Amino acid sequence: MAKRIQFSATGGPEVLQYVDFTPVDPAAGEVQVENKAIGINYIDTYVRSGLYPPAKLPSGLGTEAAGVVIKVGTGVSAVKPGDRVVYAQSTLGAYSEVHNVAVEKVALLPHNLSFEQGAASFLKGLTVHYLLRQTHEVQPGEVFLFHAAAGGVGLIACQWAKALGAKLIGSVGSDEKAELAKHAGAWATINYHKEDIAQRVAELTQGEKVGVVYDSVGQSTWQASLNSLKRRGLMVSFGNASGPVTGVDLALLNQKGSLYVTRPSLNGYITNRAELQYASNELFSLIGSGAIKVDVKEEQKFALADAQRAHQVLESRNTSGSSLLIPGR
Ligand code: NDP
Repeated sequence: MAKRIQFSATGGPEVLQYVDFTPVDPAAGEVQVENKAIGINYIDTYVRSGLYPPAKLPSGLGTEAAGVVIKVGTGVSAVKPGDRVVYAQSTLGAYSEVHNVAVEKVALLPHNLSFEQGAASFLKGLTVHYLLRQTHEVQPGEVFLFHAAAGGVGLIACQWAKALGAKLIGSVGSDEKAELAKHAGAWATINYHKEDIAQRVAELTQGEKVGVVYDSVGQSTWQASLNSLKRRGLMVSFGNASGPVTGVDLALLNQKGSLYVTRPSLNGYITNRAELQYASNELFSLIGSGAIKVDVKEEQKFALADAQRAHQVLESRNTSGSSLLIPGR
């Protein structure tokens, strides 16, 4: 028997239950991982709440963890029992002591990374990789806007931008978060509870505005993001922390200067092991060189049994950087 989080109805954090289950052997092409640290991602709240409902209920939750391979299914040669690994984009169920994962979602965890660092950085770092290196290739010296800059994805983005020599303007929800984003490498910050985003972006760029905005906040920042873009700028809408953007009038893009919009997801960028390897090599080398640090605050490391509280804290906007669930804690 093992323990995991599951839910039988979508809803608030209270639907998450800590239950016993009997792990089954990994199928062909799968590996079984004993999770040592589990990544909490904002998307997990969308799945739990029903914004992105699971295919069937009851369902497991979570798609990212780091741990040790304990069994492999037939046809698996890339990893073996005993290997330290990290995975992202698994089928739902990573909030568990043990999880079966398709081998193409699994990477070997470099020796200089702890399980906690792996689970805190993998999905979020792969996301920053595709956003800054592929969706739009950020150039040295380029100024751009990135919302929720002190969040899990955000603090990695600040550091990655600095490593690229780019100037990230980070929007955040408090002065304390502004400090954290600045410390991580943001060139400038905007506290969106106190300042007008588009006006501040215009001031910071001497009226030029920016060529790209990365927006994971969604509903509440959509207009400000479009207003921060220069002519033919790119709006990258990659999340819905404040609710989804709906009912868009395409004429707006014309009126605001022939803008472009994309709505990407990691699943559109990493679809096989070669793509995973390419992105994770860049991520791990930046972590290895010290350019990206992923320190998780002690109060954001929760016991697996405490997933309800972990979600409450994440959704209350009281976290910065990544949060983890730790089995056996
Ligand atoms: P975060 O740690 O960034 O937490 C979300 C943050 O969003 C909050 O801390 C808060 O920061 C900000 N926020 C703004 N408005 C609200 C609101 N109304 N309610 C709650 N939070 C709000 O989470 P993650 O790092 O896990 O993810 C960041 C975003 O990136 C999410 O939207 C997620 O869905 C998206 N994402 C998208 C991926 C993709 O491929 N499309 C992949 C990975 C993540 P503040 O207090 O500063 O406002």
